[in-house]
Amino acid sequence: MTSKSDKITMRETLQIHWRAFKDIRRYCPGAFSVSVLYGTAAALSPYVTVYLSARIINELAGARRLEVLGPLAILAVASGALLTFVTGALLRWKTAKEAEFLERKNRLFADKMLSMDFADIDKVETHDLRSQIAQSETWAGFGFYRFWDQFEKVAQGLAGILGAAVLTISLFTLPVPASAGTFTVLNRPAFIALLVLALAFTAALGPLCDNRAMDHLARCAENSRFGNRVFHGFGFLADDKGRGMDIRMYGQQKIARYYMEKESVFNNGSSALARACRGPIGIWAALGSCASAILTGLIYLFVCVKAWAGAFGVGSVTQYVGAVSALAKNMGVLIEAMGVLRSNVPFMRDIYQFLDIPNQMYQGSLTTEKRSDRQYEVEFQDVSFKYPGSSTWALRHVNIKFRVGRRMAVVGENGSGKTTFIKLLCRLYDPQEGHILLNGIDIRKYNYRDYMALFSVVFQDFQLLAQPLGANVAGAQDYDRTRAEKALIDAGFGERLAAMPAGLDTMLYKEFAEDGVDVSGGEAQKIAIARALYKDAPFIVLDEPTAALDPIAEAEIYAKFNDIAGDKTAVYISHRLSSCKFCDEIAVFDHGQVVQRGTHEQLLADETGKYAQLWHAQAQYYTEAPSPVEV
Ligand code: ADP
Repeated sequence: MTSKSDKITMRETLQIHWRAFKDIRRYCPGAFSVSVLYGTAAALSPYVTVYLSARIINELAGARRLEVLGPLAILAVASGALLTFVTGALLRWKTAKEAEFLERKNRLFADKMLSMDFADIDKVETHDLRSQIAQSETWAGFGFYRFWDQFEKVAQGLAGILGAAVLTISLFTLPVPASAGTFTVLNRPAFIALLVLALAFTAALGPLCDNRAMDHLARCAENSRFGNRVFHGFGFLADDKGRGMDIRMYGQQKIARYYMEKESVFNNGSSALARACRGPIGIWAALGSCASAILTGLIYLFVCVKAWAGAFGVGSVTQYVGAVSALAKNMGVLIEAMGVLRSNVPFMRDIYQFLDIPNQMYQGSLTTEKRSDRQYEVEFQDVSFKYPGSSTWALRHVNIKFRVGRRMAVVGENGSGKTTFIKLLCRLYDPQEGHILLNGIDIRKYNYRDYMALFSVVFQDFQLLAQPLGANVAGAQDYDRTRAEKALIDAGFGERLAAMPAGLDTMLYKEFAEDGVDVSGGEAQKIAIARALYKDAPFIVLDEPTAALDPIAEAEIYAKFNDIAGDKTAVYISHRLSSCKFCDEIAVFDHGQVVQRGTHEQLLADETGKYAQLWHAQAQYYTEAPSPVEV
């Protein structure tokens, strides 16, 4: 990851901003139009009032003609009302766009997360990078939002400078009359040039100081983001229902509080951010305000001296003071926006580092053709696999063929490679050696989505959503209710479903509905199994979703599943041999290798084999009750 203090070149700044500009236009069309329009309107509208008020005051202080004053007053009121209306409408439009912008931006990150190779999702670095991006956004809006927001400020600054310049030119060009004596020095071009330079310098000084303050703030990002993570990790422990019992039982809040007070940038007065705020950030920000005050003083002095010397009337004093102050303010807005954009570059770097994570898995274009006979045969041929960054083989020389419509069990001790085997079967990873074939063709050559559609897996740590029961089962809001009901009944959830007043529309959990239903672990498993059945894929895999149950209960569920799997090819994973003894074939994994294969009887007959060894070691768990399914 690039460091925030890495040097930022002008070339990189331009490149990254050009790319961000194109990306934002693509994912949120209209975002720039509305912010530029609003920025311009907000910058220009005050000038109309400044100009018309000056004309009215000049007339009042001079000829006092009613036929001039009347239309001027009407114009001032009408234009003021119109501009307020337009600016207000644009602001509403921009606010609505902002909500869309944030939603689309989040979707951009979510799409990336969903489309990247699973191997990358599994990496700590990926999560770290994503979390850094999220923390920078939450902490100070750094990232895409900052870019969009400051783009508006650039438009506002430029429009404001232009408008103010038009109203200010005559301040410098209107001559002091000769009768003013030495004050005619104000008419000299050299004096005017010097004054413009002095004003520009003082105007730039304020925002430059502010930018220095911003740089110091950005330098605290790393530390502050960490503080934010601590805050998010520990700050809401007490609100987390699932942790309530553990916290009470073990007083975990003491650990959380200690950590929060020690690490958090907010609670810790000696943190880098707190010190920077008391030190350089505070000093630069104060100097910035000081420069602005000096500038305002200089402007008043110059305008008043020129008016006093007789260059223009009292009305013009309001115009010039207003316009020059606005000129300085808008120069400040522009310079500050440029500075913020620059300090945003390292955060945009992180974003693009994340969005540019390449998809390295080869994706073929072959379709798996929907076969009604479900004749999909998958074979592992001498497959070996190491997890990225690991030096040990998680699977070694695995040869297995799944026979269509049969039940295969994958058993072995924890850590023997069973889940890894399923991850490879579902092509979440590609093996480094060997091949996995579907109907004789390497699975890499198939379209990834088509291939994934062949599998329904119930993982050990499956997740349900706080959504209606039926939507959970179908994975969609619109679904076939009869099929969803059947899947739930097949999965053994029928009685519970009948007792639910809203049936399939019952909300699970309480996040989105007060009358949501909290289901037990066992019920959740049944819903997860129903979800796999609803998908109706030719392969169905149970990867120890029942690990939290006792061995006998697991055996019951597995055996029942045997009936409902129908003509599907079913794969059962368990470290408990008793759950799988009804299967047509059992593959015994040990240290990433398939050390034995056969039926339960065949395997048990080999007294010295791994299976017999595990069987006898585990026998105590299930000899007390007969296995529900006899082979
Ligand atoms: P099982 O499902 O039989 O319990 P696994 O397939 O989960 O075993 O694990 C096989 C081996 O691979 C173990 O040594 C485990 O530590 C390792 N392993 C599993 N997941 C990862 C991962 N994401 N990164 C690195 N090593 C892993």
